[in-house]
Amino acid sequence: MNVILARMGEITLKGLNRGSFEIQLKSNLKYRLKRFGKLKIFQSQSRIWIEPLEEDNPYFADLQSAQEIMKAITQVFGIVSVSLARKFDGDFDSICENTKAYVTELLADHPEYKTFKVESKRGNKSFPMNSPVICEELGAFILDNFEGLTVKVKKPDFIVNVEIRESNYVYCGKMMAHRGLPVGTAGRGMLLLSGGIDSPVAGFMMASRGMPLDAVYFHSYPYTSDQAKQKVIDLAKIVSGYSGRMTLHVVNFTQIQLDMYKNSPQDMLTITMRRVMLQIAEQIALQNNCKCLITGESLGQVASQTLEAIAATNEVVKMPILRPLIGLDKQATCDISREIGAFETSILPFEDCCTIFVAKHPKTHPHPEDVVKAEENLDIAEMVKEGVLGTEKIEINPF
Ligand code: ATP
Ligand code: MG
Repeated sequence: MNVILARMGEITLKGLNRGSFEIQLKSNLKYRLKRFGKLKIFQSQSRIWIEPLEEDNPYFADLQSAQEIMKAITQVFGIVSVSLARKFDGDFDSICENTKAYVTELLADHPEYKTFKVESKRGNKSFPMNSPVICEELGAFILDNFEGLTVKVKKPDFIVNVEIRESNYVYCGKMMAHRGLPVGTAGRGMLLLSGGIDSPVAGFMMASRGMPLDAVYFHSYPYTSDQAKQKVIDLAKIVSGYSGRMTLHVVNFTQIQLDMYKNSPQDMLTITMRRVMLQIAEQIALQNNCKCLITGESLGQVASQTLEAIAATNEVVKMPILRPLIGLDKQATCDISREIGAFETSILPFEDCCTIFVAKHPKTHPHPEDVVKAEENLDIAEMVKEGVLGTEKIEINPF
């Protein structure tokens, strides 16, 4: 039978509370893998085994069919890597037979593979051959049975891993996962999610530290279109593939932006607007049991992301604002965006509310007095109240 081996990472460094991280991880895996049939998920030391309870589960049929469930496991934070392993009982002959079947499947997918080596672990000391002998004899068996393969000790194309425990296991290669800590082991955060490249990455990064998310999006219909909103919903869904289901709070921001546009100086608009956004986000966060705000800001990237501008927006809220991208350059952020499957959606060309009402020459280094003056003719408290009240809730599920 085929089973999946998932390796845990940072959790294994935890001390007394390791157990609670492991329980959360198994519960997250259970939820994420619900649609792949009846499974047994159990842990042994730093590994988690996932076995089908029904013999004909198609997701475990062979290496090719297992790609989908393996990919789903890589999206669960706390897992470092995954392999599809063949599990069987028996003597050395059965090891040879099962290895032959596995390598045949592997080579069908990777005809370019020419070199290999065997690595072996023997947990069950009553097995009559020791590890070096298993490696040697299984290596010879593979050479006899697969024309064109040769042994290479350093950097072979693939490694045949054999483990002898209560059962025997054979597997080759592994799919890398996203590491991190299981979602649910930290408090909930409210992600300010725009349609851009940065904020979905910021959400992904905080979720990778165990943080479940809600998201808030400021929508200025008709200045921002329904397509822009749909794009944010799509991005929320992509992020939820990692962070779990979330509520997306869509704030109707049109009237507030128009008021600001009319009643405050153009060059301060970006900062004033961001100050109001953060206050609305904080109120919605409080109502939804979120303990921090998260943005995709990166120092110096645009006018509103200078240190002075950040200070001016920081001071209006009490909650911590987490900015996981603050020290990353754009290229690094784009790389993560591609890796998590958000990039293609993020670059769709729909306007963001910030880009429409933005001044030609925004103040990049505002003095605190400028900020106060810019808000003289605005009823900020009323705007915040109005924003919170006019919010639509959308439930987002990863699948
Ligand atoms: P992004 O790529 O995430 O859109 P950006 O580079 O466009 O970021 P800004 O427009 O200055 O930068 O926005 C900085 C951060 O403010 C965003 O990363 C996001 O967290 C938040 N933000 C901006 N616009 C909105 C919006 N319309 N709704 C919710 N959050 C927003
Ligand atoms: Mg943006």
